[in-house]
Amino acid sequence: MSEPSAPPSAAPEARPRKPFYLELHWQILFAMGLGILVGAVALYLDRQAMVPGGEEVTQNREFVVSAFGWLGTLIFRLLRMIIVPLVLTSIIAGVSSVGRAGLGRLFSKTLGYYLLSSALAIFVGLAAVNLILPGERARDQITSAERAELPDLTTAGSPADLLIDMVPENVVRAASTPDMLSLIFFAIVFGIAITAVGERHQQILIGFFNAAFEAMMTLTGWVIKLLPIGVFGLLAREVATTGFERFQALALYMVTIAVSLSVHLLITLPLLLLLLGKIKPWIHFANMSEALTTAFSSASSAATLPVTLRAVEKRVGVSNRVSSFVLPMGATVNMDGTALYECAGALFIAQVLGFDLSLGQQAIVVLTALLASIGAAAVPSAGLVVIFIVLDAVGLRGPQVDAIVGAMLAIDRPLDMFRTSVNVFSDSCGAAIIARSEGEAEVDAEIRPPL
Ligand code: ASP
Repeated sequence: MSEPSAPPSAAPEARPRKPFYLELHWQILFAMGLGILVGAVALYLDRQAMVPGGEEVTQNREFVVSAFGWLGTLIFRLLRMIIVPLVLTSIIAGVSSVGRAGLGRLFSKTLGYYLLSSALAIFVGLAAVNLILPGERARDQITSAERAELPDLTTAGSPADLLIDMVPENVVRAASTPDMLSLIFFAIVFGIAITAVGERHQQILIGFFNAAFEAMMTLTGWVIKLLPIGVFGLLAREVATTGFERFQALALYMVTIAVSLSVHLLITLPLLLLLLGKIKPWIHFANMSEALTTAFSSASSAATLPVTLRAVEKRVGVSNRVSSFVLPMGATVNMDGTALYECAGALFIAQVLGFDLSLGQQAIVVLTALLASIGAAAVPSAGLVVIFIVLDAVGLRGPQVDAIVGAMLAIDRPLDMFRTSVNVFSDSCGAAIIARSEGEAEVDAEIRPPL
């Protein structure tokens, strides 16, 4: 059977390189800068217009939110529109082409990679908080820090719940929520069922899902071109509504998280690429530039998934059979950045409260951080909401804990952007490493033309 998206290895040099300002990741970075600038100017103008002792002025901020905010909503809605059909067609096409024999092998490799990379991330977070001790510094400042209301996101309870939730009671409802894990479960078993039907039906179904998948990839390519506009609107609105002041009180904590995420992104994952996949990390970084910038600006692995899938297939050169298996599931299950954050965040809260965690309790933090990251949805701030799973496990609860989490939420956006990039990058590394282990020699063989 022919691969739906063969690696684009054929003579890429035939295509002239675009000037840098036409490359998507530069456009996204530029749009982010412009969005932050516009939001900051509105904040500045409002502050200038304020009379001492008078009421707060919000006119310019409101203008930015209403004039540009909708652009972000619109374009990221387009991306979300793609997710369900893209994931379904990609997995069904991929799984039905792997065949039942190869599936078990691919599944164990994928699970093995998820566990390894998340565990390494958690240990980096654990080490950083124990070395930098950001909680001791923040103890006095945290009570005065601004707090925010926690969003209402549901979290899976026990590992058994997680497993039960994976099986959809109703496929249509799973697609409309969307409940990605149960949708992925259905797509996988449906893909397997295709391999078990008679030859004639099998050909029709495989042909249909491959064709539908190609059409969804084309649509993704079109929406991706609009991303810089959406990123501009998103960031302008974010800065105009949130401002910058909140970040001071928790500066050392933010530095701790940023340093540990950087260690995982720039040292641990590249080492895995090099050692397990014999892949040159800088080539992989370059091929993933669009997905990384999209993850960073959207703070949502789910919204980034169409870009990740396209980049991993078209630029990294992974076959759909591997990428469809590793990426959609990875977006929901394999969250290295979030796992690191769960562990570091919980230890930080313990430090702020002057609560000495024993070695055994730290081990519980490590384990529950892994579970929490699996349970976290791939949407903004989900990682912070599930931190209660970790806190609860070591007996950290009550109004003081809620207050600290509230303060953490107020400054969560930049950290969320960073950990989402790490989440997406880890999934792509997994896809590349597993594809190499499956004999796909073209993977990251060169830096391929931008999307
Ligand atoms: N926003 C992250 C993601 O979508 C999840 C998190 O909040 O940690 O990957």
